[in-house]
Amino acid sequence: MRYEGNIFRPFSEANSYLLQCTVGCSHNQCTFCGMYKDKRYRERSLAEIMEDIALAKDHYGDLEKVFLCDGDAIALETDMLLAILKKLYQTFPSLRHVGSYVGPQSTLSKSMEELRTLRLAGLTKAYIGVETGDEELLKKVKKGVGYDQMLEAGQNLIAAGINLSAMVLLGLAGKGEASRRHALATAKICNEMKPQYLAALTVTPVPGTVLYRQAQTGEFELLDPFETLVEMKQIMENITADPIKFVGTHASNYLPVTGTLQKDKQKMIAAIDAVLKTGDESRLRPDYMRGL
Ligand code: SF4
Repeated sequence: MRYEGNIFRPFSEANSYLLQCTVGCSHNQCTFCGMYKDKRYRERSLAEIMEDIALAKDHYGDLEKVFLCDGDAIALETDMLLAILKKLYQTFPSLRHVGSYVGPQSTLSKSMEELRTLRLAGLTKAYIGVETGDEELLKKVKKGVGYDQMLEAGQNLIAAGINLSAMVLLGLAGKGEASRRHALATAKICNEMKPQYLAALTVTPVPGTVLYRQAQTGEFELLDPFETLVEMKQIMENITADPIKFVGTHASNYLPVTGTLQKDKQKMIAAIDAVLKTGDESRLRPDYMRGL
């Protein structure tokens, strides 16, 4: 298979064929993100993408799941996305899932009719990096949109019938009151957006990023593992939307927690409390096992 540069995909797309439609991220400015810093954003040609689909057919035969890479495939023109989806479903008779990371700005550049057409054509799941509901923090980390736009992007995807996974970043605000503000605002945007999935990841300063430099100079203070758990708990406690599948098992997290809100809320909070009460670091995922 042909790929340009490092390729990223969500954990839940581990069994998906990765089809690179764009190279890099159309935004590529978030201060904490190093995923596509080595790439200059560009769209691959439809001819190249069609060739890749043919190569995948030769190699795999049939497929059930496909994930569109890189960071923001929804940035492609709708007609091009529809052509890709059509070809995928024609080529792979067992295909039942096509997922993609989606940027909020690119999502908002599509009309509701376009989003519904994409869903009808088989775009089944979108992963949006919400990161936080804190307006000030969204600006500080250069997410490119504020609270209202982020919310609208998520709500539009859901209204179009696309399954939505919202990703949030524990520790993004740093320590103290900022951490609490981040947790409460993040719970608020999740309550309003009502994604089907909420994935919590823990911020890890990556060399080459602005956040890494800020951590080096002391401008940004990383939470300790237990403070990260407190933040996770605060987000959970303040989410009232029901149901949301909470996915806290990402490799960056100190304590893997998963379950359905609201059904499993108390159980998940009790699991966090059990570790917080003991302060026992041996119950945390060690740093060498953590990753992005
Ligand atoms: S976090 Fe997402 S939107 Fe921001 S630069 Fe990284 S891939 Fe692009």
